[in-house]
Amino acid sequence: MKFSDLSGVMKKTSLTIDTIENPFEHYYIIRMNIPDGMKWVAGEHGLFFLPNRRVKQLQKFRPFSVASIPEEGKVIIGIKTKEPLSSFKKELITMQKGEEVTVRGPFGWFKIQDSKSPIVLFASGVGITPIRALFNQIATDSSRPVHLVYVSNDYHLFKSELEKIAAENAQMTIQCLKNRTEASSALAALSKQYGNQAYYYISGSGKVISSVKKTLKSKQISGKRIITDPFFGY
Ligand SMILES: Cc1cc2nc3c(=O)[nH]c(=O)nc-3n(C[C@H](O)[C@H](O)[C@H](O)COP(=O)(O)OP(=O)(O)OC[C@H]3O[C@@H](n4cnc5c(N)ncnc54)[C@H](O)[C@@H]3O)c2cc1C
Repeated sequence: MKFSDLSGVMKKTSLTIDTIENPFEHYYIIRMNIPDGMKWVAGEHGLFFLPNRRVKQLQKFRPFSVASIPEEGKVIIGIKTKEPLSSFKKELITMQKGEEVTVRGPFGWFKIQDSKSPIVLFASGVGITPIRALFNQIATDSSRPVHLVYVSNDYHLFKSELEKIAAENAQMTIQCLKNRTEASSALAALSKQYGNQAYYYISGSGKVISSVKKTLKSKQISGKRIITDPFFGY
């Protein structure tokens, strides 16, 4: 992470709720309307505040990755709730169309590094959110291989739209897997195939990231080729 990766945190933007979808049990997709000219880079995240709701917790905001790209015209986030439901998420998932959300940022470092290297994406659970954005950004790039390994033990958020993107680009593959052992072997096979030519993007809880990083390093993948987005808080 570089200091410039954080510069966007000084910006504050007002968004409004468009839709809140609950596709499966604890998973939610929240779409927000944006003001004209709002820009961000695929893979960035923001600090989200609910200015007109009473969050009964010390920390009044949550960092969330932006799952969309500016061309979609909305900020989309994907969240997973846990029991007990936090006060912040209780307020967030009960918001109505038109209610205000403010965001500081977006900012971050989980971005496409160059225009040539093969890309290996690894998402665990709701860690798919920034990877959805990266996948959309490179959807029409057929100049290099792009492989997504997506592991979740209960539900694969955004699965059908990601599969549709992959089906339309001969260079893209997607594997939606249910357990970590399968995901580790899929990743091991990709790291064997591409070695240090590829960039490896990993998104998920801090624990998952450490373990995937360890696997990659044991396959002699340099730390410089591994880009991570740890979801602290899980
Ligand atoms: C860069 C970054 C990107 C992120 N992107 C996403 C994203 O795209 N989607 C996403 O869902 N999350 C994302 N996160 C994580 C997110 O910011 C939150 O930390 C996470 O969602 C948990 O928030 P929470 O409000 O559910 O739990 P918190 O209130 O933060 O509490 C943490 C844990 O404590 C438990 N808890 C809460 N209240 C109580 C209580 N009274 N008694 C006992 N236990 C309790 C909760 O169940 C939860 O498991 C990201 C984090 C980072 C740093």
